[in-house]
Amino acid sequence: MSNIFSGSAIVAWVGAILWTIGLVFNANATQEKHGKSVSEVLQVPSTIETESGKEVGFQQSNQPHEDLDAVLWIQTSAEYGAVARQTFRAARAAVGDALVDSKWTASTEQKKIFDSKTDRKLSELPPAVVLDVDETVLDNSRYQVGLIESGGEYSPEGWKAYVEKQVATPVPGAVEFVKACRTAGVTVIFVTNREHDVETATRENLIAHGLMEKDDPDLIFTKYEKEEWTSDKKSRREELARKYRILLLLGDDLNDFIATQYHSSSEVRRKVGDQYKDWFGERWFILPNPNYGGWEQSLYDWENAVSSSTKRKRKREKMVR
Ligand SMILES: [Mg+2]
Repeated sequence: MSNIFSGSAIVAWVGAILWTIGLVFNANATQEKHGKSVSEVLQVPSTIETESGKEVGFQQSNQPHEDLDAVLWIQTSAEYGAVARQTFRAARAAVGDALVDSKWTASTEQKKIFDSKTDRKLSELPPAVVLDVDETVLDNSRYQVGLIESGGEYSPEGWKAYVEKQVATPVPGAVEFVKACRTAGVTVIFVTNREHDVETATRENLIAHGLMEKDDPDLIFTKYEKEEWTSDKKSRREELARKYRILLLLGDDLNDFIATQYHSSSEVRRKVGDQYKDWFGERWFILPNPNYGGWEQSLYDWENAVSSSTKRKRKREKMVR
């Protein structure tokens, strides 16, 4: 049993007090928007052939695009900002609870390690929160705009070119959350499926918006930075679980929270979501992403190489009638 005057307990209480102060005084952080046009963000071919045989810009064609409403919801609706801020505000309150409960962890991987016999106590580890980057703290909807205007599809090359421009803006509420964590002495760690070759661009983009500080150590864990760090984020959480007490996980995809035999069906994903329903809103906090993610790939069986029409056909079959 831990003594309330032990070193780790004092650290936890000091963290909790700083946390409360942060909640009172940290309400006015602001966000900055870049003023660049979509064409500056993403240079893509943007013509299509009309019925008359004449080529026009895709953006003038009024062709239907599956992502149009999703992108506009993120970029223009009051509702998106409200749900994002609501999530981060609830997460801030949860950090306060987690700091004073020395057995609290948000990582199933960490729970497994410390439930079995280990020489170290969970309470001895420094507290951390683990966040995904894309559509969790950075809004990349302008990349999606580029795809809509060009009629193109996601490609690793196009995505890399976009990331290197560092034009992503913060998700509403993210900056305030990160700053409150730092004020309370909680380490903020990013686990992202961006590739290691864009880590510097990612870091600069995060720093530009106050999501990281210039003198921060390497707290971005990218895909394949180590051989075993695959798209499935489990191996990265396992590594972090040995160094930090993971207070919360924040993301926009089930994979940001738990391994689900990574490429599983939508039915399996739903079951896992249901299984952990008590963790969401308590130690797991999820942001909406109606544009892309495991939810969408599972609809066409993770076969990214099939044609758009095959993807669309498989999606239509998944509708509940
Ligand atoms: Mg993401």
